[in-house]
Amino acid sequence: MHLLKSITERHVCEIKRAQNPQAEGILSEIATVAVTVRREWFPSDRTTCTMPGMHRRFKRSAFLAVTGGAIAVTFLLPRYDLPPTYHDFADRRMLFGVENFADVASNIGFFVAGLYGIAVTLWRRWGFEDQRELPAYIVLFGGLVLTAFGSGYYHLRPDDARLLWDRLPITVAFMGLFAAMISERLSVPVGFRLLPLLVCCGGASLWYWMWTVETGNRDLRPYILVQFYPLLAILLLLWMFEPRYTRGYDFLIALAFYIAAKVFEVADKPVYAATGNVISGHTLKHLSAGVGGYWLARMLASRERLRKPIASSAVAAP
Ligand SMILES: [Zn+2]
Repeated sequence: MHLLKSITERHVCEIKRAQNPQAEGILSEIATVAVTVRREWFPSDRTTCTMPGMHRRFKRSAFLAVTGGAIAVTFLLPRYDLPPTYHDFADRRMLFGVENFADVASNIGFFVAGLYGIAVTLWRRWGFEDQRELPAYIVLFGGLVLTAFGSGYYHLRPDDARLLWDRLPITVAFMGLFAAMISERLSVPVGFRLLPLLVCCGGASLWYWMWTVETGNRDLRPYILVQFYPLLAILLLLWMFEPRYTRGYDFLIALAFYIAAKVFEVADKPVYAATGNVISGHTLKHLSAGVGGYWLARMLASRERLRKPIASSAVAAP
C-alpha cells in the first residue's frame, strides 16, 4: 500500500511540476482517480483497521484482484470476432414500409425505459445519499434512450459500420450502471471519478474493434471485456458489500432480464421457428433488455435509504 501511495502521489507531483498543459489533461485525471481510489479504499488512518474495517479492506483488495485477473485473462485469450453470419437476422419482414420492422420497432422499449429512468432520477434526486450518485444514472438512462435510435438505425440495414452506432450507446449505458454500482457499494467519490474514464474505456473498446476491422486483424476482445466484466463485477459488488438502499434485489432481477436477452440473441432463429415465425429471438432480446432497464428505473422510484438522514431540526436542537 505504501508503494501504491508513493507512486500515485509522485505522479501528481510530477504532473504539477511539469506544468505541461497537454499532460495535465488525461494524465492528471488518471492520477486524481488513482489518488482517490487509494485514499478511499486504503485509508492510511490505522484506527480504521478494526476487524470489520480489515474485512472490508480485504474485500476491496479481492475485488481489485478479480478486476486485474479479468483484464489479464481477456488479453491472454486468442483474438475473437463476430461470426460471419452475425448480421443475418431471422425476422427480415417489412411492415409499414420499414425493413426488418420487428427488430427496429422493438427498440421502443429502450426509449421508454430510458426516458422514465431520467425522469425518476431527477424527480427522486433527494432520495440519493449523495448528489454525486446522480450522473451515473443519467448516463445509464441517457444511454438507453440513445440505444433506441442507434439500434433502430443499425437494424434498418445491418452491417459492420452501422453496428458501431448500435453498440456505442449500450456500452455507455453499461458503464453508467457499473459506475452507479461502484458508487453505491464501494465509494461515491471513486464511482463519480471513474464514470468518465469508464465511458471512455467503453468507447475505446469499440474504436479499437473498428480499427482492427479496417486493418484486417478483427479483434472484439476489449469490447467483450467491457460487456461481460461489469456483469461479474456487479454480482461481486452485490454479494460482497453491504447496501445503502432498500430493494437491492432489483439489480438481480434487472440482470436476469439482461441475461435472458443475451440468450434470446443467441437463439434468434430457433425462437423464430419455435413461435411459428411470429417473433424472433433478437426482437425478444430488445424487449427483454428494455424491461431490464425499466426495472432499474422502477427500483429508483421506490427504494429508500437504509441510513436515514439526520433531521435539520434535530441538528439545530441544543
Ligand atoms: Zn439488436
